[in-house]
Formats: sequence, C-alpha cells, structure tokens
Amino acid sequence: MIISMKLHASREEVDNVRARIEDFGYKVHSIAGEERIVIGVVGVGDVTVCLESLEAMPGVEKAVRISAPYKFVSREFQPHKTEIKVCGTTIGGSEFVVMAGPCSVESERQILESAEIVARAGAKFLRGGAFKPRTSPYDFQGLEIEGLKLLDKARHATGLGIITEVMSDRDVDLVAEYADILQIGARNMQNFALLKTLGKCSRPVLLKRGLSSTVKELLMSAEYVVAHGNPQVMLCERGIRTFETVTRNTCDIAAIAALNELTHLPIILDPSHATGKRSLVPPLARAGVAIGADGLLVEMHPHPEKAMSDGAQSLDPRQFAAMMHDLEPYIDLWKRARSESLVTA
Ligand code: PEP
Ligand code: MN
Repeated sequence: MIISMKLHASREEVDNVRARIEDFGYKVHSIAGEERIVIGVVGVGDVTVCLESLEAMPGVEKAVRISAPYKFVSREFQPHKTEIKVCGTTIGGSEFVVMAGPCSVESERQILESAEIVARAGAKFLRGGAFKPRTSPYDFQGLEIEGLKLLDKARHATGLGIITEVMSDRDVDLVAEYADILQIGARNMQNFALLKTLGKCSRPVLLKRGLSSTVKELLMSAEYVVAHGNPQVMLCERGIRTFETVTRNTCDIAAIAALNELTHLPIILDPSHATGKRSLVPPLARAGVAIGADGLLVEMHPHPEKAMSDGAQSLDPRQFAAMMHDLEPYIDLWKRARSESLVTA
C-alpha cells in the first residue's frame, strides 16, 4: 500500500497514521517527501479494511493498494522516473548517458588509453571488469584489486565516473571504495545474498538482466535492493538466451518499452553483450535511444584483436567515435521527447 498525506500534513497526523498501520499488523517501510509525505507500507493482512480506515484519517489524501508483486520499483508506487545523480551526471533525467570501455581491465596502458578514447567521444563513465564472471574457469578471471586501482587512476586522469562489476557480497565494500556505480552481472541477477548486501550500500547499482530471466524476475531482483535500503538502482537489458544463434544473445528490445511502463527505475541498454558482434552494436544502440532507454553500456577496446575477453563485440576507437557521432541526431530527438514527457508528467 502507499499512503499519500495531504500537502503540509502535520507531524502528529503522520504519527497517527503510522500507529494505525502498525495496529493493523503492517510495517511502515519508508516515509518520503518533504512537502507531501508518502508512506510505503508492506506486510500481509486485510488490505481493504486497512485502506478504508486509513483514508478516513485526518491528513490522509489517498491510500492505494499496489497490485504488482514488486512494490517499491513499480510505477504505481512512484509515477515519476527515478533520477540517479552520480559524478555530476543524472541518469534517468534529461541526459542520455553513455558508459563505455573494455570488457576487462587488462593493464595500466590499456585502461588509460580506453578512458581517454571514450571520454573524448562523449562517454561519461568508464566501464571495465576487475572481477570477471567467466563461463570457463580457465579463461582470464580479471586483475581484481589491481584492476580496481587502475580504474581509479583512469578516473583521476580523465574525470570519468567508474562502473565495474562486483561478483560477491564479500567484495561489495571493497568495490564500492573504487567504483561510482556497482555493476551486477547477468549471472548474478538472482544472487540474493549479494542483492541484500547492495541494499545496505550507498553506491548506485546497475542490475543486468539474467540470461534466462523474465522482466518480472528482473524487477523482483531490483525490489530486493530497494527494499533493503538502496533506492539507486538502474536496470540493464543485455540480451537473453533463445534458440537464435546469429547473435550471441537475443536483444529483447521491447522489454525496454515494457519496463518503462512498469517501473520508474532508469534503464540502460548493453548492445555489446546483446549481439556479440561489433557490426551490430551501432544499429542496436540507435534502437536503444529510439525506444527510450536512459543510456548505453558499450564495450570499446583500443585494440579489440588483442582483447583478453569479448574482443569480437568490442568496438575499436574509430568505430566508437563514429557511433557516438551518428547517435547525435537520435539523442536530440530523445531529449525533445524526454522534455515533453517531463512537462506532461
Ligand atoms: C560484462 O559486462 O562484461 C559482462 C560480463 O556482462 P554480462 O553479465 O551481461 O554477461
Ligand atoms: Mn564483456
């Protein structure tokens, strides 16, 4: 349930509502808003009777039931989009945000070169895995702490924000020391211990859709993080596993439009993992802008032929700059559509 209080409802009225909620056996999960207080309520019980009782109380504007199983991330709970302010950029607002860099951090030279290239072309965040989830235990597993330190150097050299993957709940504090955004990989989307730990973390989280996960499961995983205390979550469509083999994964592009209806969380498209093939990355990136994603997560390597992971889907510096340039008119239209939707919202 959510309870919207009247504009400037008194402290006493809010306290009385809280007490009544608890009398019904429900738990007050969050109280948000300055001028207009909105109370989030969770638990099990007789919702209809509780709603009627609350709506009759002084200071209450409206009490509504949220029918979606994911409560806090639903549009019903929060009609306006969540804006995540990080490193001077707002994700989910009036800016289309590009995060780019190699699949893995491989060496100082490689990551510094990558950072300069993506910054010059207009990206706001540098991506690069220090902890790598690899299908084979014999493949490169990442430079781990050394990789995090190299990302930090790249941040200082360029001013870019850093997004990097955290694979285990044990590493959340460590990775959060170096990263501005914590990436949760597709293979960890339902690692519930990790999701709960992220709820206690103050860094924004980018949650990737699992290889065989539904949109609803993605939203339930996001709900874990938000319900445990961290509202700064963005979702990432990175392709799902189907019978199709022409592309590495099948990009569920419609999921972005569907998510925009179902949730207020920002949505990022990863056209690199969604296709597995560099020639397909720019056209898919355009589709992402057109369908209303809030940004892109793109793999770019200074020398893709030498990449230790995902070389085939990594753009080279020239291709990345060309993609960014070619996206400009689409992003202009995106901005116009976004400002109109902000006006009508
Ligand atoms: C990555 O971003 O390099 C990665 C491993 O992605 P995913 O978890 O989507 O496979
Ligand atoms: Mn990769």
